[in-house]
Amino acid sequence: MMKNLTELLTTFIGPRREPDSTTPLTTCNRCQQSLAGAESYQRFRVCPNCGRHFAISARERITMLVDAASFRETNRFLASVDPLSFSDRTGPYADKVSEAQRKTGLADAVVTGVARIGGQRVVVGALDFDFMGGSMGSVVGEKVALGFELATRRRLPIVMVATSGGARMQEGMLSLVQMAKTAAAVQRHHQSGLPYIAILAHPTTGGVFASFGSLSDIAIAEPEALIGFAGSSGVYPSDHMLMLTSNQAPAGSFRSFHPVPYSFHVRHN
Ligand SMILES: [Zn+2]
Repeated sequence: MMKNLTELLTTFIGPRREPDSTTPLTTCNRCQQSLAGAESYQRFRVCPNCGRHFAISARERITMLVDAASFRETNRFLASVDPLSFSDRTGPYADKVSEAQRKTGLADAVVTGVARIGGQRVVVGALDFDFMGGSMGSVVGEKVALGFELATRRRLPIVMVATSGGARMQEGMLSLVQMAKTAAAVQRHHQSGLPYIAILAHPTTGGVFASFGSLSDIAIAEPEALIGFAGSSGVYPSDHMLMLTSNQAPAGSFRSFHPVPYSFHVRHN
């Protein structure tokens, strides 16, 4: 699934644009509180007044999580091809991928690598919602599976930050099989007795929730993050996960607790 290397490098040469979602805001768009100089916003993209969690790019997530200068990225230039020559009324899939690459500075919607957290070596990965809604196509599935395989091989724990609308429909069946592939990689890691921590950011839905997003040993959800599949016939949190509140969430999905800072659910075997 590698594109021509020259074409890819051309995409990344030149001034790097900051992802739109991480362009600093001056006021909170929910409570109108000024965010100027607010430490919680500067450091964590959280409103100090109402506690709203704003979107964070994949690279910012990883920088927040890991020890300084400890991150070594893996498979950075793995990029999607256009297996179906897909196009709809909004334009060709290939154009959307190129636009997302320019917008985010990423080759696809996930960043993976090896790092240290509190001195502990880990494999870490983060999805980027600004890249086509964090959708899982061939490249996201491959990089996530490779991340779990690397962690299994090196006997390391893994931390994955999910934020996604689900499978990338423009790649058709190739996207759907990523659910089975990532789930199998998670299972092999789990059978090796190694821990997997998922951080579910807003939103974690569709095929990402229904595969590696919901298979962790420990899941930590952002406050108010929309988590689930889609529609009343979709995937429900099963009995191995603690059911959370669902006041305003669509049927079949739920929102994590608020104002409790973090919610945990643990898999039992
Ligand atoms: Zn606010």
